This record gives sequence, C-alpha cells and structure tokens, in this order.
Amino acid sequence: MEDPRPVVAYIASKELMQISSLLPSNPQRSTLVHTLARSLNLYSREFSTERFLQLVPPQKAERSQLNLYHTDDYLNFVLNPDNADELSKTEYGLEEDCPLFRGVSLYVELVGGAAITAVKTLQHPRWGRHHAKKNSASGFCYVADCVLAIMQLRRLAQQTPSGPRKPRIMYLDLDLHFSDGVSQAFHQTSSTSPNILTLSIHHTAPGFFPSTPLADLPTPTSDPFTLSLPLQQGASNATFLRAWACVERIRTAFDPDFVVVQCGVDSLAGDPHAIFNWSLGPCDDISGRGSLGWCVSRVLNHPDWRGKKLLLGGGGYDSPNAARAWAYLTSIALGNPLPLNTEIPSDETNEFFPQYAPSFTLDVPAGTMQDRNTDEYLRSVERVFEEAAIAIQQRLTAT
Ligand SMILES: [Zn+2]
Repeated sequence: MEDPRPVVAYIASKELMQISSLLPSNPQRSTLVHTLARSLNLYSREFSTERFLQLVPPQKAERSQLNLYHTDDYLNFVLNPDNADELSKTEYGLEEDCPLFRGVSLYVELVGGAAITAVKTLQHPRWGRHHAKKNSASGFCYVADCVLAIMQLRRLAQQTPSGPRKPRIMYLDLDLHFSDGVSQAFHQTSSTSPNILTLSIHHTAPGFFPSTPLADLPTPTSDPFTLSLPLQQGASNATFLRAWACVERIRTAFDPDFVVVQCGVDSLAGDPHAIFNWSLGPCDDISGRGSLGWCVSRVLNHPDWRGKKLLLGGGGYDSPNAARAWAYLTSIALGNPLPLNTEIPSDETNEFFPQYAPSFTLDVPAGTMQDRNTDEYLRSVERVFEEAAIAIQQRLTAT
C-alpha cells in the first residue's frame, strides 16, 4: 500500500557528495553533511510519523538547461576547463575565490542538475549558489543553482496555471552575504507583471563581499520586487525576529505560490566570518522565536505560508556546524524536529565524530557578541519594508 504521508524530497547522491566535497571553499563539507544526516537516521522511513524523506538522486543538467541562464561563452569554458588560459580565467571569474578545480565541469552539471531535479520533483505530488552570474563564477559559486531553480519553477508554473493569475515565486535568502547573483538576475524595475520577488537578509558594509548598492536598504524609488534587508554586526535572534516580521509583511503582500529558501549558514554564530550571533534553534514558538530553525519552520509549517517550498544550501564555513544546521532543518521539514541536545552519533556510521568537539551535540548556540542593531535602525527597516509592502500590493493590483 502506498505511504499516505507527505513526501520530503531530499536531493542527494554519492556522486554529488563526492564532487561537492572537492569545492575549494568547502573541502569535505558535503561528506560531513550527508554522513551526519544518515547517522541521525533522517533517511529512515521511521524517523517521523508526519512525513517521510525520499532520496532523489540529481540528474546532470543538460547543456540547454544550464543555458537557460548561463551564457554560451561561460559554459564553453567552465565545462571544458582543460584548455584554460590565464586571460580566460580572469574573464570568467575562475580565479581567486573561484579557482578551477579537478571535476569542476561535473560539479556544475550536478549542482545545477540538483536544483532542476528538485523543481521537477515538486511538479509531482509533493515535495546556494547565490553569487554566480550568467557569464562568470563569483564568491565560491560556479553555477547559479538558485537562478536555474527559479527559472525552471517559472517554466513549470506557466505550464500548469493554477488559476486566473500567474503563479508567483518568492526567493528568500538567509545567507550572511547578499544574494547578488539571484537579485540581479530578476531585478526588473521596468516590468509590469512581476511574478518573482527576491528578498535577501544579510550583512553589508564597505568592503564586505559582494559590493553592490542593491545590498543596501531599499529607497522609495527601488524596485519593491528586489528587496534587501541588511543587518549590522552581532544580529541575534531578537533582531532576526524583528526582521522576520518584515519578511511576513512582504509575504502577505506578495502571496507567493512557491517559496525558494536559500539556507546559507555562514550567518550562524560560530562561523569563521564571526559577524552575526544567530542561533540554530530551537524552532518552537515559545523559546525559539527568531532563531534560524524557527524562521525555516514558519515557512515550512505555518498555514500562512501556503504553496510548495524548496530549500537550498549556501555558505557555511564551519563544516561540522553546517552539517548540524542542515540536519536540524531537514528534521524540521520532516515534521519531527530533533532536540538540540541530541548527541552526535559516535558509532561507525559517523567517522567524523571527533570534528564535533567540544559539545558533541546538535546545537549551534549563540555566543556573547554584542548586537549592534539598534532599535532606531530596526525601526527604519520596518518603515522601509512597510512602504515596500504597500508598493507591492499597488503594483499587483495594477496588473
Ligand atoms: Zn555566504
């Protein structure tokens, strides 16, 4: 008999894990992530009574699918890196933070393919690389999986119209860094029928990557469908709770049919960037309000957030913490959030156990950093987002 529980599709394969573990910015991270998920039993049908996880291997993206966004020139180069010369490397951003590495072409095909596979899986009953540009690599990102997912989702949504209006896609980015690649791809000041909205919560400061005016707080003349919510150093759960009210306000105004969340975890306390002081959990509504787990739980489980959801990874430069965070978010998606004091398995299923010292638990707690987001600053953010929400409603009713 068919399992009546809703499915959570989890896009992973040994090949994707191995090739992602070669990423120069995050060596071996992918192996830690999937090893921890497996050792915590997240793949088991018995893990949750609410939903169950279905492992879906990614299909390699075809050239034509990558071409939906990336330019021919960039693809010619990144998919055939053997005859690379120095000038071309510079032209296509394949130097400094994005050096060519053994396997880069398979990496691009599989990571792009994973995002497209995820969207295709959404099409059937149920179920970030956010700096990459169409013509270059950037910020540890070689393939624009977030953009490809949104473009594929838009195509799918157009094929299956859900009613009198065009389906709307909301992209929410929780990475420490601004989602320049995605925001620029859909930045559409002149468009009259906006059905894609991007909202990035991040840190920005002079000299902090990526440097673009789009990362600043919107002005009254900004495109209200390309939103940016910058936070100052030390952003804590209390600050994220206030930022989240802005996110909810925008969600109400835009009323998305699909939500894509980039769950970069370099915004958590403990990341080597050491800029925010955000905690992983808990995700409950009593003590967890404003934590990463609570925010993602709102999107996944609160009835106000209707429609289908796609969660993507992103930054996160403490690999054990990235594994903790993504295992925890997966348990939330499965409707059975793991307790934060869950012990990291030390048996033969988890050869990376020593890397989880000194706590050896699932938690990524906040530290003692001072929160520099003043009440005055957060009030200005709230004002700007209230205006943006009104502008969105006006634009949507006008079309
Ligand atoms: Zn980042």
